[in-house]
Amino acid sequence: MEPKTPTSRRVLVAKPRGYCAGVDRAVVAVEKALEQYGAPIYVRKQIVHNTHVVKTLEARGAIFVEETEEVPEGEIVVFSAHGVSPAVHEEARNRQLRTIDATCPLVTKVHNEAKRFAGQDYDILLIGHEGHEEVEGTAGEAPEHIQLVDGLDSVDRIQVKDPSRLVWLSQTTLSVDETVETVNRLKERFPTLLDPPSDDICYATQNRQVAVKEIAAESQLVIVVGSENSSNSKRLVEVAKDYGADASYLVDYAADIRDEWLEGVDTVGVTSGASVPEELVEEVLVRLAKHGFDDVREVQPVDERVRFALPHELRKDLRAS
Ligand code: SF4
Repeated sequence: MEPKTPTSRRVLVAKPRGYCAGVDRAVVAVEKALEQYGAPIYVRKQIVHNTHVVKTLEARGAIFVEETEEVPEGEIVVFSAHGVSPAVHEEARNRQLRTIDATCPLVTKVHNEAKRFAGQDYDILLIGHEGHEEVEGTAGEAPEHIQLVDGLDSVDRIQVKDPSRLVWLSQTTLSVDETVETVNRLKERFPTLLDPPSDDICYATQNRQVAVKEIAAESQLVIVVGSENSSNSKRLVEVAKDYGADASYLVDYAADIRDEWLEGVDTVGVTSGASVPEELVEEVLVRLAKHGFDDVREVQPVDERVRFALPHELRKDLRAS
């Protein structure tokens, strides 16, 4: 039997959603650099993990490269919001590149914790996803002291020199609940494991997860706008499913929504990852309205007002001009 189309269809839109302060700062840094110095501006890795943002900046003259060695000597390179290891800074210096470091200050905070604990000869257990740029950057601060913990299974494989000098840190964009589970498992093995001085999972990741939990409880379907390589966006899909949604999908664009996802659904939740511009969410709402989802309500369990200043190298030149 065909599923019935409900007569009243509503959309619950999570707030906060979309751009966080670190992403906003990184994207504006590339835009301002293009205005100030002219194209091309080189950017190491995707400035933020969003396909649309990268394409838009490319169209304005940004050139995205994987490594600094691809940047011609003497040119300007912007480091992405996810941060880089000291080895990358060194390589840029050797190639006489002018750098603009758009590393999010909250990622820099984790780098500083890693340096401090490594300086005190601690072993550091870095909870995060193998291969993620942020993890590579943080681990590069003290490779001989840092071990990656990627998933519960990896806990049993950890070897440490001295369990009384052991601390855990984490990637900024993890699932809060999963990280608590991993830390609990680590503490079963290492009861003297030290907690970081403050949360490493950043405010934006936490707030978006709090908000998606609220809408998931009342939605059959949650659509998360975000790219496949965006860690915080993928976590939102998992959290939505854990907190009551029957289904949740990650979409880059409104056009990715399949009609069959909406069959028999009367409430759709919508949110977006921290690297997603609001225009993409608006396009999703337009698409949903065409399917009769025209009762749109915003659900805001947390207020968010964080802003970061632009990278200082850029601020200096902008002031001078
Ligand atoms: S998600 Fe968090 S750590 Fe990452 S750029 Fe945004 S504020 Fe910074």
